[in-house]
Amino acid sequence: MIVTIDGPAGSGKSTAARGLSERLKFEFLDTGAMYRCVARAVIQQNIDLTDEQAVVKISQQITIAFSDAKVLLNGEDVSLSIRTPEVTEAASLVAQYPAVRQELVHLQRQAAKDIDIVSEGRDQGTVVFPDAFCKFFLVAVPQERARRRFEELQAQGKTTTLSEILQQIEERDQRDEQRTVAPLKPADDAIEINTSDLTIDEVLNQLEQIVRSRINSTTHEQDSEGNL
Ligand code: C5P
Repeated sequence: MIVTIDGPAGSGKSTAARGLSERLKFEFLDTGAMYRCVARAVIQQNIDLTDEQAVVKISQQITIAFSDAKVLLNGEDVSLSIRTPEVTEAASLVAQYPAVRQELVHLQRQAAKDIDIVSEGRDQGTVVFPDAFCKFFLVAVPQERARRRFEELQAQGKTTTLSEILQQIEERDQRDEQRTVAPLKPADDAIEINTSDLTIDEVLNQLEQIVRSRINSTTHEQDSEGNL
């Protein structure tokens, strides 16, 4: 069973996806971390981000793994180093390249094979798992999304301003929404949730309730079909 959670930066999808996977006892897949790994490897190897061929080659050479809530790039724990502003910016650049996406989409489908999973990103409901059991699209007003990101960076000891973050978030969203391959957008059958004024528990309660009632109604349908 696959549940997808897509949405723009700071919409709360990572926290929601992680929390929902714990409540449902599903696996959790952070696909943004995969684009961040490609970006980190490109930066580490001093490759020009605009050199599409070289970036694609890197995406084909690296190994990405998730273990005990850690992200491993070629075996190295990069859980923290893929969250820097430099990698964040680079991730949305490498994510524009079709062949990079193709590589990562393949890995994402492999990761979801034969297991129950909550997968979060930008294109999970539209491109990667179009037949997912339940699809969510989280949104929040830009000021709130910037505030969340600002707090995250402050907690990491990074100095920045709210207006700087707001500008970066808006630029990144624009790039994600306007790219030609797998742009950020809700799937036609996605349920949209505005998290601007909700606590994380309120978001999780809504998501869990929707998934569970869908599971129940599917089970009922199957039961009544069996009884016919
Ligand atoms: O979600 P996160 O902020 O970690 O994603 C980093 C970048 O990776 C996004 O800005 C987006 O450009 C890209 N991304 C993507 N498709 C996904 C997940 C992330 O294009 N499924």
